[in-house]
Amino acid sequence: MNKEKPMVKMPNEEFDKFMCQKFPELFQDRNKPMSETCMCWGFDTGEGWNQILYDLCEKLDFIRSQTGIITVFDQIKEKFGGGRFYYHIEYDDKFPCKLQDHIREIWCNFISEAVDKAERESECTCGICGEQYFHDKISVGGWVYDTCKDCMLKDTGNSRFKDLAERLEQKEKRDDRLWQLKCKIERMKNEELSLVEKTCDEIEARTKTIVT
Ligand SMILES: [Zn+2]
Repeated sequence: MNKEKPMVKMPNEEFDKFMCQKFPELFQDRNKPMSETCMCWGFDTGEGWNQILYDLCEKLDFIRSQTGIITVFDQIKEKFGGGRFYYHIEYDDKFPCKLQDHIREIWCNFISEAVDKAERESECTCGICGEQYFHDKISVGGWVYDTCKDCMLKDTGNSRFKDLAERLEQKEKRDDRLWQLKCKIERMKNEELSLVEKTCDEIEARTKTIVT
């Protein structure tokens, strides 16, 4: 069921170089100055999203090779724990056949949907391990994290998570204490109940003795 995700292990710097070499048209603005593009910051996303970005670019590059419509990325970043992949469209002047406007429009809509889909996928994909998660986004003090709970707890050495991991640990301890208290009350209730039953039995037994 799990799809192979070879890109997820690739460190950010290496992934950046790999993507620019593999898709030069899509990342043609990567090394332009910051006065012109935010793409100069590179891939401002966790390695867990590498595969999503690769799969998206493979699709967009195929469209480019067939139509001359180039999706040029302006910025790749994370916001509120989800991906924001900004781009603009350019047309390859040297492309042999010119598309009619309405056909171009259909392709541009397709591109927009593909980018949307990748952004939505990143919303529930861990930025560290690349696995999908099904719990709510973890947020502390208005800061929303792009990671799953497991990675968050595992990565306590990372200063970004240290504070949060401690809070989660405290919460779990608190929950554990609550649970123990609940069990104690339940036990007491049961003990009390058995005591009442025992007393009733005893009373019944004595009454019987008196009657007979
Ligand atoms: Zn994870």
